[in-house]
Formats: sequence, C-alpha cells, structure tokens
Amino acid sequence: MTAGREQPESLIIRPPSEWRSMLVRLTRGCHWNRCRFCGIYPALGEPTFSARTVPEVKRDIDMLRARVSRATTAFLGDSDPLQIGLDEFIEIVRYLRGTFPEITRLTCYARASTLWKAKERGIRRLAEAGLNRVHIGLESGDPTTLKFHRKGQTPEIVAATGQWLREASIEVSFYVLLGMGGRDRWKPHIDNTVRIIENVDPEFVRIRRIWLYGSEDSEHSPQCPLWEDIRSGAFIAQTAEGTVLELRRLIDKLEEVDTFLTCDHANNYVCVDGHMPHDRLAMLEVIDRFLSLPEAARQAHYEAVGSSI
Ligand code: SF4
Repeated sequence: MTAGREQPESLIIRPPSEWRSMLVRLTRGCHWNRCRFCGIYPALGEPTFSARTVPEVKRDIDMLRARVSRATTAFLGDSDPLQIGLDEFIEIVRYLRGTFPEITRLTCYARASTLWKAKERGIRRLAEAGLNRVHIGLESGDPTTLKFHRKGQTPEIVAATGQWLREASIEVSFYVLLGMGGRDRWKPHIDNTVRIIENVDPEFVRIRRIWLYGSEDSEHSPQCPLWEDIRSGAFIAQTAEGTVLELRRLIDKLEEVDTFLTCDHANNYVCVDGHMPHDRLAMLEVIDRFLSLPEAARQAHYEAVGSSI
C-alpha cells in the first residue's frame, strides 16, 4: 500500500487546536467505530481500521524531516493510535522526539478505554517517552447516556485514566458533546459530566455539539447513525436552544476546577472561552446576553450557524 509512496500518509481528522502541528499517521480509521453519534471515519471514506507498521511510520517521519525545517508541535492519529500497540507507540514517539528534538508538544487522540488497558504504568511510560497531551472524547459523564451511545467507556474509566495522565504530567484535553443526552437526559448528562471534570480537573475542556450529518431521509449520502434512533423514537434530539442551556448549566456548575474551557469548534451556537473559575461569570454573561435576544433573532442565529465538522 505504501510502496513507492513519496508523501507521508495523511490523517483524516485532527483537533482544531492542532492546526499548526505536524501530523503523523499511526493507524487508519477507528478501531471501535460503534458510537451512535459518530460514524465519522466511514462517512469520510475510511470504513475499516488498520494499524500501520513501525517502519512505515518511521519512514514518514524521515520524509517529514526532509520537508519540515522546524516543527514545534506534532499530533499522532487517527482516532486511537495507541491501537498500534503500547510498545510500538512508544518506539514511534521516541523516534519522533529524536528526529525532531525541537518539538515541545506531542499529542494524540486516545480512547479512555484504551488508556485504561495501558494501566498507570503504561501511561507513565508514555510520559517518559515524550507524549505530553492527550485529547479524549469524554462526551458525557452520564453512564446511561454513554451506554446508549455505545461509547464503550464508563465514567469511572474516564476518571481513573484522566487522573493517571495528570499524575504522569500528561495534559488532558476533554471533549464534551452538547446534545448527547437528547431532550430527555440533558440535565443528568450535564450534571454527571461536571462530576467527571471536577474529578479529573483537566487542563482543557473543549465543547462540541452533536453533528447530525446527512439529512433525515437521505439515502445516498453518509448519514449519522443516530438518525436511525431518532426515526425509531429511541432518541429525541435536543433543540438548538437546549444545547445553549446545556452549555450554560455546565459552566454554571463548574466552580471548582482550574481548567481552560473553550468552544473551539464552528458548530457551537454560542462560543465562549476562558479560564475556570476566573472567567466563569463573564462566560455566563455572554450566554445570558444571547438568551435575552428576541426569539426571532435567536432562531435566525441557529439557522445561520448550521453544522459542520
Ligand atoms: S467517537 Fe471516537 S471512538 Fe467513537 S466511533 Fe467516533 S472516532 Fe470512534
């Protein structure tokens, strides 16, 4: 597949905060691929999972060294690159650090359940090798919501792995998905999410909204798997305004953390950023100002924002 290739292999998705990072692909697609709200790798043309070999990835790193004069940050993908194997991952991190000694931040996506299998000792080894930030899809701290969406992790697993990472001095970047509990469970979704965030006290909390790509009745374009549950009545999608109320509730309850909270994605209806707890009240004021607009203005805003990856 890679014979004769002259370009390093590209990733499909990276966090917005890694837009300036050098991107290195260790795995293709998502090993789990079951979350009801996602299906994003198949939708973007990567329906199956495969792990690349260590020599393949090292070759990419060599090619990048020949092209990139200076890289200060690097990101390893795709969705859960530790699936390449802990020893293999560590070997690649060491090679990357040796090839690009100027790198100050080396990050990856990781599923909490994969980190859980690495255990505390494995996480310490990752830190020693030079990984210093991990992006984790917390999505929700509500066990019922996580189970419904087949996320494959419990709040306890996320809390334990988050604490191990912090103890190993690896920064934790949690993603929270507004709308994940639907209209029925939005309060438990937010309240239990607050509990996990307080428990781990991550460096970053990044806010997203469930992205229902593909229209409800589209047969030929990729469709978010959650549409099936919406059609069957198993999931009642949150309203646009409901997601703003979720954001407000989340920030209102997060009084005890030392975290940078950011809505760093274009599909958020209201975007606030700030250090908690210092900027908490200012962020609530921004949301309240928006909610006090006339209803027609709010609806027009929701329609204008739309959805995107
Ligand atoms: S949310 Fe993450 S783990 Fe779940 S299917 Fe999507 S990429 Fe895979």
